[in-house]
Amino acid sequence: MNKAKRKAVIAGNWKMNKTAAEAAELISALIPEVAGAGCDVVVCTPFTDLPIAVSKTAGTNIAVGAQNVHFEKSGAFTGEISADMLTELGVQYVIIGHSERRQYFGETDITVNKRLKAALAAGLKVILCVGESLEQHQHGVTAELVAMQTKIALGGVSAEELKNVIIAYEPIWAIGTGLTATAEQAEEVCAVIRRVIASLYSEADAEAFTIQYGGSMNAKNADELLAQPDVDGGLIGGASLKAPDFAAIVRAASK
Ligand code: PEP
Repeated sequence: MNKAKRKAVIAGNWKMNKTAAEAAELISALIPEVAGAGCDVVVCTPFTDLPIAVSKTAGTNIAVGAQNVHFEKSGAFTGEISADMLTELGVQYVIIGHSERRQYFGETDITVNKRLKAALAAGLKVILCVGESLEQHQHGVTAELVAMQTKIALGGVSAEELKNVIIAYEPIWAIGTGLTATAEQAEEVCAVIRRVIASLYSEADAEAFTIQYGGSMNAKNADELLAQPDVDGGLIGGASLKAPDFAAIVRAASK
C-alpha cells in the first residue's frame, strides 16, 4: 500500500471547550503556525463557535468541522443540528461516532450510519470514529469490534461517497488519558480497517483511503505514530487546544 497516495489529515477535536471569543483567539494563533502545511488541517469546534471559525479561517488552509450532526433534515429534534445547517454556514467536515457520543449520548452503530449518510448527502466530509474500550482491548476483540463498527457505519455508502469519509481509529482507553497506543498497536488496527475497506470496496479504494489515529497524540509521539504505513493523520483532542502543540503535530504530518 502506497502511503504517498493519501493526503494526511490532522484534525483538532475541541470537544466542549472554547467560547466564541476564545475560538477566535486560538484560530488567530493557529493560522500563521500552520500556513503552508503539507497536510490538510481541520478544526472541529463546538456548534456555537462555527460561524466565527468559518469567518476567521476564510482564505486560509484551515477547514472547519462540527462534532456531530443529526440524520433528519429538520423537525422536532430539540437540541440537534442538521447537515444543511452546517453546510449553509460553510462547515466542511463533521466528526461522527466519537466514543464520547457513543458512551454519554446513546449513539449506536445504527445511528452513526444514519448520521454519516445524512452528512454525505449534504456534501459534508465525515471523520468517522471507531475504537475499542479497555475491556474489549483486554479481551482481544479489537479487530472484530473495529471491523464491525466500520461495516455498519458504512452500510449503504457508495465508493464515490467513500471519497468523503476518513476513519479515525481511537482506542477509548487512550482518549484523554495520556495513554497512547504504541505505534505498532495503532498500525495494526489501522491496517485492519484498511483491509475492511478493501473487502467492502476495492484495493484501490483502500489504498486511497485516509485513516487517522486518535488518543493522546501530542507533539512528542506524533512523529512515530504518523510514520506508520497505515496511519495517515491524527484526530487530536487535548493537544488541539494550544496552537503551538497542534502546529507541532501538523508539522510532523507534513514531513
Ligand atoms: C479525541 O477526543 O478525539 C482525542 C483523541 O482526544 P485526546 O487527544 O485528548 O486523547
